[in-house]
Amino acid sequence: MTRPFILDPLFQSTKVIPGVGPRLTKLLERVAGARVVDLLWHLPSGIIDRRYAPRIAEAQTGQIATLTVTIDEHLPPKRQSLPYKIRCHDETGAVDLIFFNVKGDYLEQQLPPGEQRLVSGKLETYGGTMQMPHPDMIASLADRDSVEIIGPIYPLTAGLTHKVASKIIRGALTRIPELEEWQDATFLKQQKWSRWHEALKIAHHPQSEEDLSPQHPARQRLAYDELLSNQLTIALVRLQQKKDKGRVLEGDEALHQKALAALPFELTQSQKQAIDEIRSDMRLPSRMLRLLQGDVGSGKTAVAFMAMVHAAGSGGQSVLMAPTEILARQHEGTLSTFASRIGLNVVTLTGRDKGKQRERILSMIANGEAHIVIGTHALFQEDVAFKGLALVIIDEQHRFGVHQRLQLSEKGNMCDVLVMTATPIPRTLTLTVYGDMDISRLTEKPAGRQPVDTRLVTSERVEEVMEALQRKINANARVYWVCPLVEESEKLDLAAAEERFLLMQQRFGPRVGLLHGRMKPHDKDAVMSAFARGDLDILVSTTVIEVGMDVPEATVMVIEHAERFGLSQLHQLRGRIGRGSEKSVCILLYHPHTGAIAKKRLTTIRDTEDGFIIADEDLKLRGAGEVLGTRQSGLPEFHLAHLELHSALVKIAFADARLILDRDPHLLSPRGLALRTLLYLFERDTAIKYLRSG
Ligand code: ADP
Ligand code: MG
Repeated sequence: MTRPFILDPLFQSTKVIPGVGPRLTKLLERVAGARVVDLLWHLPSGIIDRRYAPRIAEAQTGQIATLTVTIDEHLPPKRQSLPYKIRCHDETGAVDLIFFNVKGDYLEQQLPPGEQRLVSGKLETYGGTMQMPHPDMIASLADRDSVEIIGPIYPLTAGLTHKVASKIIRGALTRIPELEEWQDATFLKQQKWSRWHEALKIAHHPQSEEDLSPQHPARQRLAYDELLSNQLTIALVRLQQKKDKGRVLEGDEALHQKALAALPFELTQSQKQAIDEIRSDMRLPSRMLRLLQGDVGSGKTAVAFMAMVHAAGSGGQSVLMAPTEILARQHEGTLSTFASRIGLNVVTLTGRDKGKQRERILSMIANGEAHIVIGTHALFQEDVAFKGLALVIIDEQHRFGVHQRLQLSEKGNMCDVLVMTATPIPRTLTLTVYGDMDISRLTEKPAGRQPVDTRLVTSERVEEVMEALQRKINANARVYWVCPLVEESEKLDLAAAEERFLLMQQRFGPRVGLLHGRMKPHDKDAVMSAFARGDLDILVSTTVIEVGMDVPEATVMVIEHAERFGLSQLHQLRGRIGRGSEKSVCILLYHPHTGAIAKKRLTTIRDTEDGFIIADEDLKLRGAGEVLGTRQSGLPEFHLAHLELHSALVKIAFADARLILDRDPHLLSPRGLALRTLLYLFERDTAIKYLRSG
């Protein structure tokens, strides 16, 4: 099954659109994408209204006006830096059309002296003359009726003008084919939605501000198409996973009890409940597909451990996937301590393991000696074979894509899957990301935890903070110093961190370490464990400590330029402290000129430690895609649907997808075939793969 030919025109490069050359391709790529289809998804963000058509004498400046003028003379510039002027008039007055960097012969052709033209653009006065710089519409009177009097405004980028963007997107719209309807006819009628190609055209030709609303029928229809393609994908994957029957894993009660006794703490009520839920899933003949949601520090690792013990008790292997090397090593530290007490072997495989070492680990995995395997992306590699993989656990899921999750679970013979996340994902998002995955939640923090005292301090008072740190260190505190994000560039982050590190070393001496993403894995480990052992007082780092680091003795965190961080990120970072029984303090250093929204983020963080409140606030302040970090993770990215504003549609699509597959699991009916086109249109490769194999 390959992409239907009818979609081909949409997946060609934007170069096929008349007027698009190499320069424009780059600009278009920056705002929308490299292909025609990307332009279709680039919906207008505003409208331009050219209805105001005064005579020159009555025209108001500062407004967009459409004038009917007679062209008098062309005044080419005397010097390059000066504009090209074209003098025009109507029966009431004169106006100059002004152009910078435009070729004269082009203008002669567009605006020949002696002729009449419609010109539209913003009016200004300059030295007492009425001017219109760069009219964005020029038409002959004969074309009056075909001119877009009200037109779309698109999100732009430097170098791309409004006029060019709308012309090109108009060009893209001429390429849309009429596709077989994939939506249910009755449903369409009931919603008063148009056909797909019509909806696209309507969405790109807004006539009023209301037409830009996400609730406009055309936009709703387009959003629904996208949501349905997403839900169908998830449902297809789910169907496939249900089809292969899971294994019954009975577990071993004696081993379970031994493991409980080996844990250095009493489990919280919600940990116990989550473990019960997981164990009963594992005992069922169907596959487990469960999400374990728990705020930072809620103790997900212990739950994972007990699930692994259950698998081992049934003679199966478990694998724990971590998003980073650091985390994998840390899990290894914790889990091997627990596991060795009950006679289970833990091995870790990451990209770092090469040669003999790697072979040794691989053979332990293949011959079943390794009961628990911890690793990173390296585990996806083909040569990792398990003797009997029964359980796949994925930590901090949002860093992995749906596809990777599937790839890994295919290594096991119908293994159970547990996904752990610290992102308190709102319900709508869970549906779009996980479909109907079962959910366990850790709602309480382990006993003995004290709330973190969070303070906002302007960066002007950094000296006081330094003095306070010195006092803390004298009292044996361990300190995280988190360096700011610099324009999302890893290189610059690094420079900032290195500079801070040197400053801190000058001031506090050699017991200061530096941790960043570009370090050699071996050096990272060395720094981490030095900090964990207490050989370092201060760990200066970039955001690499964000995910999961666990040093209970660390009780102080300073976040530099906290105003540059997102809410969830601040919450995750702060979650690194307040893990032991000592009182912890988090200092958010912010720039004195911080804007209102960033300030709101900081006060939210100061006032609550509740991950759900923070996530909700985060979703309000940013889009859903950003909350989940979809761009990096390969999770579905939505172009047309807005998960918050279209949440009602998410629920309908969820039910709709199930209904469709109940009736037509292989999408072979006429509607099914149309739905396949929909899946191709939204590039749901995973779904397509399953249709192919199923
Ligand atoms: P996260 O959910 O963020 O992954 P961890 O599993 O890393 O949290 O646990 C955080 C810390 O809490 C660890 O030091 C862990 O040993 C400890 N911990 C976990 N469960 C309990 C418990 N029930 N009682 C006390 N400490 C616990
Ligand atoms: Mg964790």
